[in-house]
Amino acid sequence: MNRYSRRILLGIFAGGITSLALIPTVPRPLAGVLLAIVVGAAYSASMPPTRGAYVDNMMTAAALGVPLWAFISVVAIPLLAGRVPEWGAEQMRTHFPALVVWVLGGALLGLVTQGFKDLADLILGPEPARATSPPKEVKRIVILGGGFAGMKTAESLEDQFLRDRSAGVTLISVTNALLFTPMLAEVAGSSLEPSHISTPLRTSLPRTKFIRATVESVDLEKRIVKLAADPSRNDGGGSRDIPYDQLVLALGAVSNYLGMTNVQKYALDFKSLLDAMRVRNRVIEMFERADSEADPELRRGLLTFVIAGAGFAGVELAGALNDFGRGILADYPNLRPEDLKVILVHSKDRILPELSETLGRYAQQKMAARGVIFRLSARLVDVRPGVVVLSDGEVQAETLVWTAGTAPNPLLRKLPIERDKRGAVMVETTLAVKSHPGVWALGDCAVVIDGVTGKPCPPTAQFALREAPVLAKNIRAFLEGRPLRPFHFDSLGSLCVVGHQTACAELSVPFARSKSLRFSGLLAWAMWRGIYLAKLPGPERKIRVLMDWTVELFFPRDVVQTIDLK
Ligand SMILES: Cc1cc2nc3c(=O)[nH]c(=O)nc-3n(C[C@H](O)[C@H](O)[C@H](O)COP(=O)(O)OP(=O)(O)OC[C@H]3O[C@@H](n4cnc5c(N)ncnc54)[C@H](O)[C@@H]3O)c2cc1C
Repeated sequence: MNRYSRRILLGIFAGGITSLALIPTVPRPLAGVLLAIVVGAAYSASMPPTRGAYVDNMMTAAALGVPLWAFISVVAIPLLAGRVPEWGAEQMRTHFPALVVWVLGGALLGLVTQGFKDLADLILGPEPARATSPPKEVKRIVILGGGFAGMKTAESLEDQFLRDRSAGVTLISVTNALLFTPMLAEVAGSSLEPSHISTPLRTSLPRTKFIRATVESVDLEKRIVKLAADPSRNDGGGSRDIPYDQLVLALGAVSNYLGMTNVQKYALDFKSLLDAMRVRNRVIEMFERADSEADPELRRGLLTFVIAGAGFAGVELAGALNDFGRGILADYPNLRPEDLKVILVHSKDRILPELSETLGRYAQQKMAARGVIFRLSARLVDVRPGVVVLSDGEVQAETLVWTAGTAPNPLLRKLPIERDKRGAVMVETTLAVKSHPGVWALGDCAVVIDGVTGKPCPPTAQFALREAPVLAKNIRAFLEGRPLRPFHFDSLGSLCVVGHQTACAELSVPFARSKSLRFSGLLAWAMWRGIYLAKLPGPERKIRVLMDWTVELFFPRDVVQTIDLK
């Protein structure tokens, strides 16, 4: 019996036992038993055995109960009964008992499956190992950067070379976790714990060798990546050379201050996890100082937060900081709501240029109603301590956050490869770097032209995640001497949260990509949460984020400072 047949068989038994808990949620008991068996078999087949992982299995399977409840109890069962599914408050009250049973049933399934797997290990011995082909010459594939592009490339290469050990994958990155940037504003707004939106690269990529280091340079002639010296290492921390056969550049982008040195010096960045933690701690610090500040002018400057750039990152941050600031005012008895100002500066006459005009205007109107101040058609010119200088006047503010411009990683400028005027690497539609066989690039650091439309792909996580599997397949095809395939992907649309339980969503219509469906308000916000929670890698992170969101429903935001900004 191979390992999948064994897992499926154990899952069928576990599902059968769990069906006892699920029977009350479905109108027909036999259908309930069959459903539980199918879910049990699928769950067990997809979970590699780890001895004694009862808590992990219980939590993962319980979380799985939520989407299954939505799909089966809320949508499929009414449809099969000839009714239109409804999810208003009244109907949700009717569906709630089923949700409880699904979650408890899921938890039971997780526990029983784990129990059966441990028992099978004891009686039959461990699962048979994957079949591997005899070792050939191992090709060294080195990926630089552990963001969406780099991590997904490593994952896809693991899939490509699953049964074939002819390639070894190494991932080098400054940080040891993938940062889920779509939720970064929620960290700055104190809704989510920072580590809950970061997925550890080592555990996510079991077959990849991970090196946490800063890449200093790349010698494309000698095919060597040079890592910066690390003084904390035991061997004295000299620089290290990593040889490669295939190289993937996935180094992302950095903030671009458009030559404004003062902005670079005084503004807070908003790209990394540390940036979000800094912003959150700065807000709390300003509230603490303002609370004991007697001079009303200085107090207003402390409580004015200017955000430059009203693209997705700037708008989401402004919405989150506005909610955060207004939410914690009650903890500071000397401060009045009118002292708090969140100002969004944008050089165009409307925010969110990535969305349709109606949605952009809707977002602006909603945010303005909640107190966000807009300075549109204005550019940031300079910043001095306590003063932000705009093209149409000055603002007294102690805090400026920069989200208005990015540039491809400056390391790429050192490489003798073709780049565009922003410094992004020019690649073929196959993601191969022009005139450098064996070197590839993708994500925010590359100019990727869609193989079908001929248009450049936007620098988003959505595209980076679709480019990576194509790149991995092309590396394999290249090594095997087969033709490469061009990259093509139609955007699925965009979502943006603009503040408390409000969002905008513009989703492409399948098979009619020129058309889009627009959503706003609470429904769009629920879609945002559902979609991004599903996309957040790893069941454990999903559960942690879900718990943070639940806690946020009942308790005020946390004002504990975690970084000493002095
Ligand atoms: C606040 C914010 C919100 C966003 N929201 C969305 C969204 O909702 N949807 C969406 O699709 N996109 C969103 N994006 C854009 C998305 O994050 C990027 O498009 C995506 O991260 C690009 O992936 P990447 O792998 O190319 O680059 P990155 O994710 O930036 O990864 C680059 C990696 O390279 C590493 N690195 C850099 N320099 C070195 C070096 N010298 N040595 C070693 N490693 C190095 C970095 O540590 C990092 O791991 C958002 C971005 C931000 C900042």
